[in-house]
Amino acid sequence: MTSEELRHKLEFYRDLGIKDVYRRTPASAPLAASPVELMPVEIKIPSLTPAGDSLPRILEDIGDCKRCRLHEGRNKIVFGSGDPAAKIVFVGEGPGADEDEQGLPFVGRAGQLLTQMIDGTASKEGIPLKRPDVYICNVVKCRPPENRTPEPDEMEICGQFLFRQLTSIQPKAICALGTTAAKALLGGKDGVTKLRGKWHKWHDIPLLVTFHPSYLLRPYNQNAKRESWEDLKMLLHFVYG
Ligand code: URA
Repeated sequence: MTSEELRHKLEFYRDLGIKDVYRRTPASAPLAASPVELMPVEIKIPSLTPAGDSLPRILEDIGDCKRCRLHEGRNKIVFGSGDPAAKIVFVGEGPGADEDEQGLPFVGRAGQLLTQMIDGTASKEGIPLKRPDVYICNVVKCRPPENRTPEPDEMEICGQFLFRQLTSIQPKAICALGTTAAKALLGGKDGVTKLRGKWHKWHDIPLLVTFHPSYLLRPYNQNAKRESWEDLKMLLHFVYG
């Protein structure tokens, strides 16, 4: 490598904010100093998931979170509940009033339907599974005012904790409940109608999208109810055979 080429290389890394890669000579040595022996570069990109991460550690890192405006109206942070070694993780949108009061996900009417869907489908299909055997959490951990859809910046800020939860649990499959969860995990703009009924992936973990239980509670969505039972059957058979 000519000294000119070396200078370009060093400037390139300096522009990236990476210092002292490639140098064996003192940092103060002139760039054109002759011949510099190159060493392998180890560029360390900090991981978003700390080594030895765990659900208690993530909860501790969330702390008394004030990272976004959603903290202003919350009573309790709703972190998640269920088996920390679950084979399936269900991801909803964000806590509602009941969840905000109790600090637990899916404990209101939508939650009761979700419990019925999990327990009912498993028992019909002869799979020994109950709600406490799965893990349930949300994209955002604080209740949005008037149960509005979380804003993109709120989803991004809180999403880091969801990603850490999923990485720590390492389930065999993830089920995104509704469009907000699907968008948070898959990116893109497509809604549940387009995405449901087929397998996607979140970082190599198979992911299925289905309707949010709140949507299924509306009386005119009976067809969606049937489709989401089908989705759950597909999910449970994939994971439990
Ligand atoms: N809806 C959600 O998306 N999550 C809950 O925890 C409750 C209702």
